[in-house]
Amino acid sequence: MTRGSFSDESLWGNASVSSTRLDPDSLLEGLTLPQREAVTQRGGPLLVIAGAGSGKTRVLTRRVAHLIATGDARPYEIMAITFTNKAADEMRRRVVDLVGSAADQMWVSTFHSACLRMLRAHADVLGYQRGFTIYDAGDAETAVERIMKELNLDTKRLSPRSVSAAISAAKNEMLSPEAYADTYGDDPQRRRIAEIYQLYAQRLKVANAMDFDDLLLNAVAMMRADDFVLRSYQQRFRYLLVDEFQDTNGVQNEWVMMLAAEHRNLCVVGDSDQSIYRFRAADVRNILQFEMRFPDARVILLEQNFRSTQTILDAANAVIAKNANRHPKNLFTDGAQGEKIRLYRAGDEYDEGRWVASEVRRLRSEHGIGWNDMAIFYRTNAQSRVLEEEMLRANVPYRVVSGMRFYDRKEIKNALAYARLLVNPRDEASARRVINEPKRGVGEAAQAKLGAYGAEHGLSFAEAAHYGAAAGLSGRALAGTAKFSFMLDELRALSNDLSPREIIDAIVRESGMGDALRAEDTDEAYSRLENLGELASAAAQYDTLMDFVERMALVADSDQLGSGEGAISLMTLHVAKGLEYPAVIVTGLEETVFPHRRALLDDDELEEERRLFYVGVTRAMRYLALTHAWSRTLWGQRVEAIASRFLQEVPSELILDLTSTLPTRRSSFSLDDDGFIGRTTQFTSGRAFGTGAAPPVRSTGAEKLGLAVGDRVVHDRYGPGVVVRTEGDGSHARAAVNFDEHGVKQLVLAMTPLHRA
Ligand code: ATP
Ligand code: MG
Repeated sequence: MTRGSFSDESLWGNASVSSTRLDPDSLLEGLTLPQREAVTQRGGPLLVIAGAGSGKTRVLTRRVAHLIATGDARPYEIMAITFTNKAADEMRRRVVDLVGSAADQMWVSTFHSACLRMLRAHADVLGYQRGFTIYDAGDAETAVERIMKELNLDTKRLSPRSVSAAISAAKNEMLSPEAYADTYGDDPQRRRIAEIYQLYAQRLKVANAMDFDDLLLNAVAMMRADDFVLRSYQQRFRYLLVDEFQDTNGVQNEWVMMLAAEHRNLCVVGDSDQSIYRFRAADVRNILQFEMRFPDARVILLEQNFRSTQTILDAANAVIAKNANRHPKNLFTDGAQGEKIRLYRAGDEYDEGRWVASEVRRLRSEHGIGWNDMAIFYRTNAQSRVLEEEMLRANVPYRVVSGMRFYDRKEIKNALAYARLLVNPRDEASARRVINEPKRGVGEAAQAKLGAYGAEHGLSFAEAAHYGAAAGLSGRALAGTAKFSFMLDELRALSNDLSPREIIDAIVRESGMGDALRAEDTDEAYSRLENLGELASAAAQYDTLMDFVERMALVADSDQLGSGEGAISLMTLHVAKGLEYPAVIVTGLEETVFPHRRALLDDDELEEERRLFYVGVTRAMRYLALTHAWSRTLWGQRVEAIASRFLQEVPSELILDLTSTLPTRRSSFSLDDDGFIGRTTQFTSGRAFGTGAAPPVRSTGAEKLGLAVGDRVVHDRYGPGVVVRTEGDGSHARAAVNFDEHGVKQLVLAMTPLHRA
């Protein structure tokens, strides 16, 4: 069974042959009885609750086509809401396949874009002009910051971003500034936020602007304000369909309910076990309340899974059963039992990355699974860094789905710009990039003056920053510039004594980036901090800052490989929702990583993490592998890691633990390019370290030297040293060498450029 053979494509290809006159019955082919019911049901509300891979999205898509094919609805009378743009594209594509260009008149989109479309037409109802601007998160924050300045509030103690986040949360709960003040007025901080919120709302209105949350809120407000607008949409969209309903928040739910109030042809599908957006105010209770709101709703349950093997389902069922707050349900399949779930226990994250690379290569060569049909999931964005590097190293084409590649992220680019500036004080682009990052009051006008002064006196931009006053700066800009150049001097002085990892730490600390992020106190800010920690870990692999900076320039610029033959997909588990792949690897299964540190002390959060694991596992069609690392560098610090509780919750008979099937001899080392063992880690005797395919050994011949303790040797890079320990023989021969200038290094002789002195 390949992806194509039981995905919808083939079937739908047939149907589109007769796209002018569709036979409705052909749309019921390949559906089970309950699925057919859901497709053909008419007149009134319909709730499909079902587990992962049971055909909810298929039912929704078919239902749309069936409505059109039977003539029960015209394309323009249908609105289908999906959770992500990716899912929306997929649905539109399928419907176009089916009904051709008529599909254009149908609305298939996310909540946000549907609301925007409505507002573009009718926002005048709320006093907005047609061409209103949309503020993205950054714009919103700047607006908040300006207001705080006007109110003379200390933006260090209360960061604009955290205020922005609080306002957004209030909006998601549909709290107006007044309601917010009423609810939280007792708390001085909240009272302040209420005040900012009030002004913020006014300002946006004056500026004829809306932020993202406003799109939803105003779409609701607009329909409330004008009965004519409400009625016309109610009449137009006679059929509403919502996928992933478990992740709708209060505002979205309200919007749907208003549109459906008249005709009540509302079909929602969802799975409460896959609700993973609580942090964005998603509320599973919307599903439960659906039945209360529509007592006559038809409820259809689907329990047969068409995606995964029984083994994968058994694992998913067993884990999700540990959640106390859920309705018990059990997925089954008529399909194969399938192969066992492969478990790889890695020594560290590099070992994990290498194994993943070798595993996807194996899946491709042994099982003929194409790159496009494989996906690698991780809990936090920062984890993609090592995986990306190992994919590059192993020549595995990859793409990072719906997320930025690690080195494209703003905080990473900023920190690297500082590092580059330390190495090269004349680096103009880097200096300009970070002189006001984090904010130091050195705005564009001030930067222009510095630039002009530098040009006049033959100084680089960073050098010119030493002469702020002469360049004509004053006040905040002058102070900020002075602070900046002082800090750079300090860092440069420090950098002689620090390792690259310590320098990255120092940059994050001394530049104020770290404090700024901590002050924001939002999930996003912490995720950026995690990314910076990851960068420090990356730096730990290098001997000098120069080496690191050079290597980073290459990694950051390297094109993503593989246009023709496809690419494997790397993504966070959150992004994976709704998707499916023949082969899936879920990585980083360690306590504090997944489940995330923040969830360890909170039962509700922990259940959400478990649902996230359930989502990840149920994306897999045929092959599933799980990995964890015994140690991982978090924040530049190597920490020992405990395997995730979720691994324990998978019944052991479903798992093939690769570690125990391989001889420990082979599994006791891992190599990097220079032949070092386990990088910053110590010799790990006996621990599962590198049980996967080791990189091809291109012998350097040093294993044949027959070294003994006490022998003097010379390394191409580390110079002279003394052998202090030897182990193994042949291509497994290892030695610990105490280098005169670099201390003790663990070497795999076959991989290292070593000679007798
Ligand atoms: P999720 O909860 O992950 O969003 P879902 O319930 O939306 O899953 P779908 O993506 O619609 O499930 O379907 C899962 C897979 O099973 C798809 O490949 C789909 O084409 C296939 N499928 C669904 N129903 C059937 C069926 N009756 N016969 C064969 N294949 C089916
Ligand atoms: Mg789905």
